[in-house]
Amino acid sequence: MSIAQIKERIARAERGAGRPAGSVRLIAVSKKQPEARVRAVLQEGHRLFGENRVQEAAGKWPAWCEEFPGVELHLLGPLQTNKARQALGLFDAIHSLDRPKLARTLARLAQETGSCPKLFIQVNTGEEPQKAGVLPQEADAFIAECRGLELPIIGLMCIPPVEEEPSLHFALLAKIAERNGLSELSMGMSADFEKAIAFGATHVRVGSAIFGARENG
Ligand SMILES: *Cc1c(COP(=O)(O)O)cnc(C)c1O
Repeated sequence: MSIAQIKERIARAERGAGRPAGSVRLIAVSKKQPEARVRAVLQEGHRLFGENRVQEAAGKWPAWCEEFPGVELHLLGPLQTNKARQALGLFDAIHSLDRPKLARTLARLAQETGSCPKLFIQVNTGEEPQKAGVLPQEADAFIAECRGLELPIIGLMCIPPVEEEPSLHFALLAKIAERNGLSELSMGMSADFEKAIAFGATHVRVGSAIFGARENG
């Protein structure tokens, strides 16, 4: 589906939810996509992209950022502390802050370098053992801890369990954000971004619906 068509669907979902036009940002998730497809979207003028891995992003985005001014890059996947410094140099936002050790490392690097990407805390709303994110019942305390470290926390992110109705997870994430005074919600992917918009998503992360199926690996 073209990026214009996805943007039209986002606009329709905003109207349907009674939300202002332009209140949802589209992150085009370019992980594991062939260069030609990503270039096509850049050439159409889109500038907000998401990647899952620091290494993969470091291998391709610096050149594209130079060629296409104004690119904003977000890290969506788990971040190892030993890659935090590299991530700080590459990304404008990180959606996967999920543990105290990473928070302390980011705080130290932010102080050292004088800047820090905007941060979303990932919440494991489905309480899945294999999934990253703080548990819902630990979220308030972790948000407070991050604020104590003066980290620029702007919102929350979740990836609902594949087999479950995502609405309950979107509603839970919105509730945790609201009671903590956080305005940004990173939720909704190719299969469910319109639903996420109905529940207040401000950032939707859409990959395969824009670019097609991903390469293996
Ligand atoms: C891959 C990925 C997406 C995009 O998934 P699609 O189903 O292709 O839209 C969104 N968010 C995260 C965290 C991802 O890893």
